[in-house]
Amino acid sequence: MTSKKKSLSPEEQARVLGELRRDVETRQKSYRERALQMFPHLCASCGREFDGKRLRELTVHHKDHNHDNNPPDGSNWELLCMYCHDHEHEKYLMAGHSGGSGGEIQLAPSIFSPFAALDSLLKPAPDEAKIEETARTTNEGTASPPDPSKP
Ligand SMILES: [Zn+2]
Ligand SMILES: [Zn+2]
Repeated sequence: MTSKKKSLSPEEQARVLGELRRDVETRQKSYRERALQMFPHLCASCGREFDGKRLRELTVHHKDHNHDNNPPDGSNWELLCMYCHDHEHEKYLMAGHSGGSGGEIQLAPSIFSPFAALDSLLKPAPDEAKIEETARTTNEGTASPPDPSKP
Protein backbone atom coordinates (compact mmCIF):
# COMPACT_ATOMS: atom_id res chain seq x y z
CA MET A 1 0.00 0.00 0.00
CA THR A 2 1.42 3.34 -1.00
CA SER A 3 0.95 6.29 1.30
CA LYS A 4 -0.47 9.43 -0.25
CA LYS A 5 1.67 12.50 0.33
CA LYS A 6 0.10 15.90 0.24
CA SER A 7 3.28 17.82 -0.41
CA LEU A 8 5.72 17.09 -3.18
CA SER A 9 9.06 15.61 -2.36
CA PRO A 10 12.09 17.78 -3.12
CA GLU A 11 12.79 15.67 -6.18
CA GLU A 12 9.25 16.13 -7.43
CA GLN A 13 9.37 19.86 -6.76
CA ALA A 14 12.60 20.11 -8.72
CA ARG A 15 11.03 18.18 -11.55
CA VAL A 16 7.94 20.41 -11.63
CA LEU A 17 10.11 23.53 -11.54
CA GLY A 18 12.23 22.15 -14.31
CA GLU A 19 9.15 21.48 -16.38
CA LEU A 20 7.88 25.00 -15.85
CA ARG A 21 11.24 26.41 -16.86
CA ARG A 22 11.29 24.21 -19.92
CA ASP A 23 7.81 25.43 -20.76
CA VAL A 24 8.96 29.05 -20.76
CA GLU A 25 12.03 28.13 -22.78
CA THR A 26 9.88 26.31 -25.30
CA ARG A 27 7.62 29.30 -25.62
CA GLN A 28 10.56 31.65 -26.16
CA LYS A 29 12.12 29.22 -28.60
CA SER A 30 8.91 28.90 -30.52
CA TYR A 31 8.51 32.62 -31.13
CA ARG A 32 12.15 32.84 -32.12
CA GLU A 33 11.63 29.94 -34.49
CA ARG A 34 8.58 31.59 -35.94
CA ALA A 35 10.33 34.93 -36.29
CA LEU A 36 13.25 33.25 -38.06
CA GLN A 37 10.84 31.62 -40.48
CA MET A 38 9.07 34.89 -41.09
CA PHE A 39 11.97 37.29 -41.54
CA PRO A 40 15.18 37.18 -43.56
CA HIS A 41 18.11 36.13 -41.42
CA LEU A 42 19.73 39.50 -41.05
CA CYS A 43 19.96 42.15 -38.39
CA ALA A 44 17.26 44.75 -38.87
CA SER A 45 19.61 47.39 -37.51
CA CYS A 46 23.08 46.82 -38.97
CA GLY A 47 22.05 44.57 -41.84
CA ARG A 48 24.57 41.81 -41.18
CA GLU A 49 23.55 38.41 -42.43
CA PHE A 50 23.47 35.38 -40.21
CA ASP A 51 23.40 31.74 -41.17
CA GLY A 52 24.50 28.34 -39.98
CA LYS A 53 26.03 28.42 -36.52
CA ARG A 54 26.07 32.21 -36.40
CA LEU A 55 22.29 32.23 -36.55
CA ARG A 56 22.48 31.85 -32.78
CA GLU A 57 23.70 35.45 -32.60
CA LEU A 58 20.51 36.67 -34.21
CA THR A 59 17.93 37.41 -31.53
CA VAL A 60 14.29 38.38 -31.48
CA HIS A 61 13.62 41.85 -30.20
CA HIS A 62 10.14 42.95 -29.11
CA LYS A 63 9.38 46.32 -30.59
CA ASP A 64 7.20 47.38 -27.69
CA HIS A 65 9.64 45.77 -25.22
CA ASN A 66 6.87 43.50 -23.99
CA HIS A 67 8.05 39.92 -24.27
CA ASP A 68 4.54 38.62 -23.70
CA ASN A 69 3.25 40.44 -26.74
CA ASN A 70 3.76 37.87 -29.49
CA PRO A 71 1.23 38.48 -32.25
CA PRO A 72 1.19 35.61 -34.78
CA ASP A 73 1.84 38.01 -37.66
CA GLY A 74 5.19 38.94 -36.10
CA SER A 75 4.36 42.63 -36.03
CA ASN A 76 6.01 43.03 -32.64
CA TRP A 77 9.21 41.23 -33.59
CA GLU A 78 12.44 42.42 -35.04
CA LEU A 79 15.51 40.31 -35.69
CA LEU A 80 18.57 41.97 -34.23
CA CYS A 81 22.12 40.76 -33.74
CA MET A 82 23.17 40.55 -30.10
CA TYR A 83 25.10 43.82 -30.30
CA CYS A 84 22.33 45.83 -31.87
CA HIS A 85 19.84 44.20 -29.53
CA ASP A 86 21.86 45.34 -26.53
CA HIS A 87 22.14 48.79 -28.04
CA GLU A 88 18.41 48.91 -28.67
CA HIS A 89 17.65 48.20 -25.02
CA GLU A 90 20.25 50.69 -23.83
CA LYS A 91 18.68 53.35 -26.00
CA TYR A 92 15.30 52.48 -24.57
CA LEU A 93 16.55 52.75 -21.00
CA MET A 94 18.54 55.92 -21.72
CA ALA A 95 15.40 57.57 -23.06
CA GLY A 96 13.91 57.05 -19.62
CA HIS A 97 11.41 54.44 -20.62
CA SER A 98 9.98 52.38 -17.84
CA GLY A 99 7.37 50.50 -19.77
CA GLY A 100 5.53 53.67 -20.62
CA SER A 101 4.53 55.11 -23.96
CA GLY A 102 6.60 56.78 -26.61
CA GLY A 103 9.49 55.55 -28.69
CA GLU A 104 8.80 52.36 -30.55
CA ILE A 105 5.20 52.12 -29.40
CA GLN A 106 4.35 54.96 -31.78
CA LEU A 107 4.95 52.54 -34.65
CA ALA A 108 1.57 50.98 -34.00
CA PRO A 109 -0.92 53.70 -33.09
CA SER A 110 -3.66 51.83 -34.93
CA ILE A 111 -3.83 49.35 -32.06
CA PHE A 112 -5.16 52.01 -29.77
CA SER A 113 -7.60 53.90 -31.94
CA PRO A 114 -10.28 51.17 -32.10
CA PHE A 115 -10.61 51.32 -28.36
CA ALA A 116 -10.91 55.08 -28.42
CA ALA A 117 -13.71 54.74 -30.94
CA LEU A 118 -15.36 52.05 -28.87
CA ASP A 119 -15.12 54.26 -25.82
CA SER A 120 -17.04 57.08 -27.48
CA LEU A 121 -19.64 54.59 -28.69
CA LEU A 122 -20.21 53.28 -25.18
CA LYS A 123 -20.52 56.75 -23.70
CA PRO A 124 -22.59 58.74 -26.15
CA ALA A 125 -22.17 62.48 -25.71
CA PRO A 126 -21.80 62.74 -21.93
CA ASP A 127 -21.72 66.52 -22.26
CA GLU A 128 -25.21 66.68 -23.76
CA ALA A 129 -26.68 64.67 -20.89
CA LYS A 130 -25.01 66.98 -18.44
CA ILE A 131 -26.31 70.09 -20.17
CA GLU A 132 -29.84 68.67 -20.22
CA GLU A 133 -29.66 67.91 -16.52
CA THR A 134 -28.30 71.36 -15.73
CA ALA A 135 -31.06 72.96 -17.76
CA ARG A 136 -33.72 71.00 -15.93
CA THR A 137 -32.30 71.93 -12.55
CA THR A 138 -32.14 75.56 -13.58
CA ASN A 139 -35.77 75.49 -14.70
CA GLU A 140 -36.87 74.05 -11.38
CA GLY A 141 -34.79 76.61 -9.51
CA THR A 142 -36.41 79.47 -11.38
CA ALA A 143 -39.85 77.91 -11.33
CA SER A 144 -41.34 81.13 -9.99
CA PRO A 145 -43.73 82.96 -12.36
CA PRO A 146 -42.16 85.46 -14.70
CA ASP A 147 -41.46 88.87 -13.24
CA PRO A 148 -44.58 90.94 -13.80
CA SER A 149 -42.63 94.17 -13.67
CA LYS A 150 -40.94 93.20 -16.93
CA PRO A 151 -42.78 94.13 -20.14
ZN1 LIG B 1 23.14 44.30 -35.74
ZN1 LIG C 1 14.70 43.36 -27.17
